[in-house]
Amino acid sequence: MKALDELTFDNRFARLGDAFSTHVLPEPLDEPRLVVASDAAMALLDLDPTVADTPVFAELFGGHKLWAEAEPRAMVYSGHQFGGYSPQLGDGRGLLLGEVYNQAGEHWDLHLKGAGMTPYSRMGDGRAVLRSSIREFLASEALHALGIPSSRALCVIGSSTPVWREKQERGAMVLRLAPSHIRFGHFEYFYYTKKPEQQAELAEHVLSLHYPECKEQPEPYLAMFREIVERNAEMIAKWQAYGFCHGVMNTDNMSILGITFDFGPFAFLDDFDAHFICNHSDHEGRYSFSNQVPIGQWNLSALAQALTPFISVEALKEALGLYLPFYQAHYLDLMRRRLGLTTAEGDDQKLVERLLKLMQNSGVDYTLFFRRLGDESAALAVARLRDDFVDMAGFDAWAEQYKERVARDGNCSEEQRRERMHAVNPLYILRNYLAQNAITAAESGDYSEVRRLHEVLSKPFEEQAGMEQYAQRPPDWGKHLEISCSS
Ligand code: AMP
Ligand code: MG
Repeated sequence: MKALDELTFDNRFARLGDAFSTHVLPEPLDEPRLVVASDAAMALLDLDPTVADTPVFAELFGGHKLWAEAEPRAMVYSGHQFGGYSPQLGDGRGLLLGEVYNQAGEHWDLHLKGAGMTPYSRMGDGRAVLRSSIREFLASEALHALGIPSSRALCVIGSSTPVWREKQERGAMVLRLAPSHIRFGHFEYFYYTKKPEQQAELAEHVLSLHYPECKEQPEPYLAMFREIVERNAEMIAKWQAYGFCHGVMNTDNMSILGITFDFGPFAFLDDFDAHFICNHSDHEGRYSFSNQVPIGQWNLSALAQALTPFISVEALKEALGLYLPFYQAHYLDLMRRRLGLTTAEGDDQKLVERLLKLMQNSGVDYTLFFRRLGDESAALAVARLRDDFVDMAGFDAWAEQYKERVARDGNCSEEQRRERMHAVNPLYILRNYLAQNAITAAESGDYSEVRRLHEVLSKPFEEQAGMEQYAQRPPDWGKHLEISCSS
């Protein structure tokens, strides 16, 4: 375990130089204080979790202090936002403080979001508010606990700094961790600004540091792109299987590592709704829940375009063609497991689709349905769950097929079935209203609810004593919360 001043830096991205990022110092927050920290994320840096409670921790991650070895940089990138190209984006309010490597030899980018203005702030103030910082923190750690690849979050630091959004709020910073903060939009930036040398440097950087195994392949860049395609397909399959709606799948928010990245007005589904739009500025539903699948491919095509200097168009197209089959395979595999199935049959996809349609028509709680399905034998579970469906006859027909399918899957004890299903079907997810409760308390200076919610969500599959209130359908007020896109 390390103390805060024992972190070891190796700032590989900063060394790429000024064409890739600009040196900017963080702008400190007034009266910085710890809101919440993740012990699990602290462990990634080998940090002793107790250091989070020291004043120097809040000073470091509230922008007051820096390690001598840190090299804070704002990265430049561009990207397609809602389908249109934005030629110049970049870290407008976040800084890559440096790269820390841990005892296991892993590198972790330390990225401070809400750290003040940079050359890429455009019209923004460089700040992040407490509400959105808490949401990013909780989501990163909750997704990770569910087994969904995501950037991580070390802590949220609150402050008394006023920040103006629709009303006056308080500024905060979230310290984000990821093996890299390079986005699809980085490649697009150098492609569209016609800087082939820098683009080649960036490609070599990503290949060597993040996809070294692809270097052994006859066409390393193609192998890397294929891997990116598969990782994105797998990530999105997991979003769909667990009901996560990202909300702003612009290419500047897509990580080159295939991890969930840049949390905005995201939401987990309460009731199953394929057409759910969590982003209130997304009037056409470009990033609706079910559209996430084709948009994943659209985004990969945008990346492919930017990789045409390194890979033939034909090969890129072929690799893009792998996206849907990869997606289908990962999605179906996970949905089978959510249904308690251990074998594969040709009609399983239909079984899943029929169930989702029934859930959609009746507004059934997506998370609790699967959890309860594993509580007891298939026959008893479906008998109990049928009351949640308006179309009971439709559900009965599905339930008959399901029971037969379970019987063909092979014998197992009720105990085994429960264990297997509960291991993939969470009891606790980050419902919007739970986040909102925690935020309301935090805004009045009480951080206990954020901390408790974070704790509960770190073990989503484990029933936790006294935490029943986190495993309920939302109350009426919490069903259709408008999550502000300003952050
Ligand atoms: P986002 O929608 O958070 O992914 O951000 C899109 C772009 O706007 C990125 O370049 C951000 O850095 C920038 N941005 C968002 N909010 C702010 C802000 N408050 N101040 C400066 N730049 C911002
Ligand atoms: Mg972004």
